[in-house]
Amino acid sequence: MNLNLNLNVNPGQGLCGSRHGGGRPRAWIAAALALVLLGGLNPARAEKAGHAHQHGAVTVSIGIEADTVTLLVEAPLDSLVGFEHAPRTAAQKRAAQALLARLRSPAGLFQPDAAAACQIGAFEVDGGVLEATGAAPSDGHADLDATYTWTCASPQALRSLDLAGLMQAAPRIERVSAQIASPQGQFKAALKRPATVLRWGR
Ligand SMILES: [Zn+2]
Repeated sequence: MNLNLNLNVNPGQGLCGSRHGGGRPRAWIAAALALVLLGGLNPARAEKAGHAHQHGAVTVSIGIEADTVTLLVEAPLDSLVGFEHAPRTAAQKRAAQALLARLRSPAGLFQPDAAAACQIGAFEVDGGVLEATGAAPSDGHADLDATYTWTCASPQALRSLDLAGLMQAAPRIERVSAQIASPQGQFKAALKRPATVLRWGR
């Protein structure tokens, strides 16, 4: 187990270099992220970790603590719907509504390792500019953030997460990178379409 694993995203990797979201309060998501980044990381450093905004990519963080699994999904809207502004055309409005509806019906969207016996719990989807309440991005790029939690009977058995439902709902997703913080240690995982399953710690 390597507790010194660097979970920071290289700022040079991002196309925009900073977090997005128009300054909306995200206390719930921040709390979830803090949970994900358990293991003694400096909070200030965790805050700086941010994410790389790369079109076609999705970044996820998975935290396992006691019987609770938290999944934080950060996706450039381009990876999900192909545009990063408030929907204008009828087609864009349909795409935004369909995506948000799918993300808010989490059954089958993500499938944790069956051996872990997880049941979906609370979740929150922040559609950003896709929603009427979303502030316009200052730099022309915009993200969607979503957080899902599960309660698992055998959380120690969780070694994979199948994202097939998400990748079916968003065919523009080409790759997913993940960081995982669990009692067994911290891991990184990645997948490229047509693969849909993140695996770690095996
Ligand atoms: Zn962008």
